[in-house]
Amino acid sequence: MTTAERLLRADLRDFRGYVSARSTRQEGSVWLNANESALPSLADPDGTSQRYPEPQPAELLKRLAAHYQVEPTQLLAGRGSDEGIDLLVRTFCEPGDGCVLIAPPTFGMYAVSAKLHGAQVIEVPLLDTPRGFIHDLDALATHTLEAKASLVFLCNPGNPTGATLDPGAISQLARRLAGRSLLVIDEAYGEYGDVASASRLLGAHDNIVVLRTLSKAHALAGARIGCVMAQASVIALLRRVQAPYPLAAPCIGMVLKALQPTALSELADRIAVVRKERKILHKRLSGLDGVRCAYPSSGNFLLVRFDDAAAILARLLQAGIVVRDMRAYEGLDDALRISIGTPTENAAVVAVIEGNARVSA
Ligand SMILES: *Cc1c(COP(=O)(O)O)cnc(C)c1O
Repeated sequence: MTTAERLLRADLRDFRGYVSARSTRQEGSVWLNANESALPSLADPDGTSQRYPEPQPAELLKRLAAHYQVEPTQLLAGRGSDEGIDLLVRTFCEPGDGCVLIAPPTFGMYAVSAKLHGAQVIEVPLLDTPRGFIHDLDALATHTLEAKASLVFLCNPGNPTGATLDPGAISQLARRLAGRSLLVIDEAYGEYGDVASASRLLGAHDNIVVLRTLSKAHALAGARIGCVMAQASVIALLRRVQAPYPLAAPCIGMVLKALQPTALSELADRIAVVRKERKILHKRLSGLDGVRCAYPSSGNFLLVRFDDAAAILARLLQAGIVVRDMRAYEGLDDALRISIGTPTENAAVVAVIEGNARVSA
């Protein structure tokens, strides 16, 4: 029995999910099986959306799998990685009783999905060291096993910390949790760092799950497409729980375009700009009065501590610049998270923090 089969909710063992008109493959030219409109809409001149979309379009899976270097059977496409997180919780946590483990400060959706499902959230905080935030791997393993948490969510590179976790540490942790927990590695910012994807480890571990998204480096946050990658048996279980038609037809087309060679070469250009700007911004902010610490980052953002974060936030807002206030997060009560913008936008951030900016109305 695989780790996922063991962790599958007892009440879903025999559950097959909704069987939609599109999930049974059929041949034909006159489609009268799904109660769609036979006449098109003015709002959809090319007919993209007249019919329900395929639940998991073969071409999309093939291209995404090639892009992330896994097999199509090892990948589930969904509405952003947010849906992936939610599916994992709903598939592998007993409602009102299950348990997930997170390492704060981290992405908020892991705890939100868990709470909505009535699952307990156990926190093993990151360690704030002079080298930046690091995972307490021993404590993660111990607490996961002790609490019988079915899911461990780690973010790599970390949001909001920008810190990374190397594949060696991930496979070691996965080995300790084998048979007991799924180790979910959220690589929303994977494109911006230098660490290899944990998707390479899928063959060797039946309990590693990797999340990727088109929302960040691919610049398609509004299309709401992300992927869960894991061994095929895990993906098959998640599919039973997913909505019948999760992907909107216009968005499927958009992602296929985003995976074409010219779009991928633009992707590489955008990533190069972010990495260059991140380095410049980090260096400039690190030298400023009033900046306590700008953490090194492998994401498209910087986490920065200030002597007076409230004043900086107000000054930025007055200049029309909106950054993420992190002060409500435990241990980050002096911190802001600043996304890397265009070179002009980043220069404006520095000017405002330096106190040299002209306030724009
Ligand atoms: C932005 C982000 C996501 C992306 O979520 P989508 O639903 O794919 O837009 C996932 N995980 C982390 C850590 C993020 O910061």
